[in-house]
Amino acid sequence: MFEAKSHRFLVPFNGGFRVAKSRTKPPKKSAKKNNDAAGWEADLETQSTKLGDSQHRLYSRGTNAVLVILQALDAAGKDGTIRHVFRQVNPCGIQVASFKAPTPLETAHDFLWRTTPHLPAHGHLSVFNRSYYEEVLVVRVHPEFLAAQKLPDAPSGEFWKERFSVINAHERNLANQGTVILKFWLNVSKKEQRERLLARVDDPEKRWKFRMQDLDERDRWDDYLTAYEACLNATSRPWAPWYAIPADDKHFARWQVAKLVNDAFGQVELDFPQPTKEVMAELDVARARLTKE
Ligand code: AMP
Ligand code: MG
Repeated sequence: MFEAKSHRFLVPFNGGFRVAKSRTKPPKKSAKKNNDAAGWEADLETQSTKLGDSQHRLYSRGTNAVLVILQALDAAGKDGTIRHVFRQVNPCGIQVASFKAPTPLETAHDFLWRTTPHLPAHGHLSVFNRSYYEEVLVVRVHPEFLAAQKLPDAPSGEFWKERFSVINAHERNLANQGTVILKFWLNVSKKEQRERLLARVDDPEKRWKFRMQDLDERDRWDDYLTAYEACLNATSRPWAPWYAIPADDKHFARWQVAKLVNDAFGQVELDFPQPTKEVMAELDVARARLTKE
């Protein structure tokens, strides 16, 4: 089973993660030479190409799957990260699913129901743009959303803890069966979010993204961060780690996500499968038949 290696942005498994201590800006000092937008862009090209190749190999073996989950507040860069990090992956091998406010059919089911059909088959890569984690994030900030779920019992004091343990068991089950799960929280600062929301108001090419509701959610900033801290601490596990990615610089965030996905691929067996003796003999026959034509 996949196990996360230690990393500066890995959310520890001991509950010691503090949002207040988590960076929103890229690290200042780095051993890397090209520690700026141009450098991150250039290496992203390498990383994204490598990722495409790894997915191809993953498919050839068919023994593992990869699930990437992206969570963040509005305008933190989830869509752009997906667009850039996975741009070299064969569209046949990747599935991207976005989860917005649930429909009545979805809330009539248990909270893992709507995401389950989008989980990656062996050989495939799935990316979740938001996920079942909204059920312990936006729903925790807005407990009134639970009314739509028509739960039989009023939520007890253990309600969120219970949801965390359901999520942990779900992910453990997936990991046991060969899914590598990587979860990224794009940590944008309140100041940077303000700039990006203002750009959505002012830039004619971005206006379509603006929703007044985003400002109401912004007013709940501290509640969201409290919910994120609890969630990341309760659900970062060696087989399904969370990474808190500084997201005020989009170039850095995209590069860092790509690098971490590649590092995880590096821990999975990716050699193309070797034919058995019997298959080799069959290939000899095939070669002979084709060359005779
Ligand atoms: P966006 O991704 O910005 O287009 O917005 C999607 C919206 O759907 C966000 O405001 C999410 O908080 C909301 N959303 C996603 N999942 C859920 C959920 N399970 N319950 C309630 N709202 C959700
Ligand atoms: Mg939005």
